[in-house]
Amino acid sequence: MDRPTTITVDLPALGHNLGAIRAAVGSARVMAVVKADAYGHGLVPVARHFAALGVEYLGVAFAEEGIALRRAGITTPILVLGGLFGPQLALFLRHDLEITVSSLAKLRQVEAAAAAVGGKARIHLKIDTGMERIGVHSETCGPFIEAAVASPWCEIRGIYSHLACADDPDSPMTQQQVERFADACAHFDRLGVAMPTRHLANSGGVLNFPQTHLDMVRPGIMLYGVYPDPACRRTVAVRPALSLRSQVVYFKVVGAGRSISYGATWRVARETRVVTVPIGYGDGFPRALSSKGQVLIRGQRHPIAGRVCMDQFMVDIGWGSAYNEDEVVLIGRQGAEAISVEDVAAWAGTIPYEILTGLNHRIPRSYLAPAAACD
Ligand SMILES: *Cc1c(COP(=O)(O)O)cnc(C)c1O
Repeated sequence: MDRPTTITVDLPALGHNLGAIRAAVGSARVMAVVKADAYGHGLVPVARHFAALGVEYLGVAFAEEGIALRRAGITTPILVLGGLFGPQLALFLRHDLEITVSSLAKLRQVEAAAAAVGGKARIHLKIDTGMERIGVHSETCGPFIEAAVASPWCEIRGIYSHLACADDPDSPMTQQQVERFADACAHFDRLGVAMPTRHLANSGGVLNFPQTHLDMVRPGIMLYGVYPDPACRRTVAVRPALSLRSQVVYFKVVGAGRSISYGATWRVARETRVVTVPIGYGDGFPRALSSKGQVLIRGQRHPIAGRVCMDQFMVDIGWGSAYNEDEVVLIGRQGAEAISVEDVAAWAGTIPYEILTGLNHRIPRSYLAPAAACD
């Protein structure tokens, strides 16, 4: 028997979200971004599910994540989105990982590594159109693109850039980035060579800016049923796939004048009932939720009382009732009530991405399987 705290991932919801994105982007292909443990949902099971659904690409941040997918037997093309660390190049080539090439110097490193093993590297050229993270500035990328096109050691599979403000439908930045990216891509026409796959849109781009869809889109957070920002247009209906639940492990009555948890910050004014829940910041449940967050017990919302500890926290249920082993919902639905990742992020003063990716592997994950196909 596992500990009573679990993450449940609804695989059919992931499939639904992929389908909704496909319907919104027309003929554009989809790269499912599964970095950071598939946004906390579990890298291999989630990637395997998307691969089974026929997603054209998987996107990860680091070579290690791609290698884990290859070791799991996944054969879908994988692009490593992060900045290339040259000494890892042999790993990229050995595991058939597509490489983000973000400068002329990196291109030369890739060529040398490919020549050393006598094979071609599959690469995507990274253009910087305003993020100032990695990539060659669009204004000066001509020689970089020419060198890549001329290289006998590289197969150019894509050209891409990343949007800095796509969450905000009113920001003029995205259109500027679209134009700069088009200028970069125009070098392929000028050179008279076939255009590789052009990709630009993250979830914000998918939702707010159809002109960013191009040949392929790279959604992350919305695949998991979460909108990147409250300001985003909800042009694609997605539903959350992850729920986080625990169970009551202790019940007590606390008298007036006592305090709860470290630092004695939660003062009990009137006698109340308090339960203890066995999950804490050591699981990635943020300490910033101390006296700010809420949970669901017996269909009612109750406040987290005092500081979240490493392995447990307390909930003030007032004169509500609760028993040992009652279900506690931290993210998800219970009866008529629901707590979303967006709610938790707002209470903790952060973004949903950080809440999801923070949930670590001390919490066991289980997967709701897709309904059997009836054919
Ligand atoms: C993380 C990432 C994405 C996905 O972003 P979301 O906002 O989660 O959709 C897309 N492209 C790149 C380059 C990324 O690093």
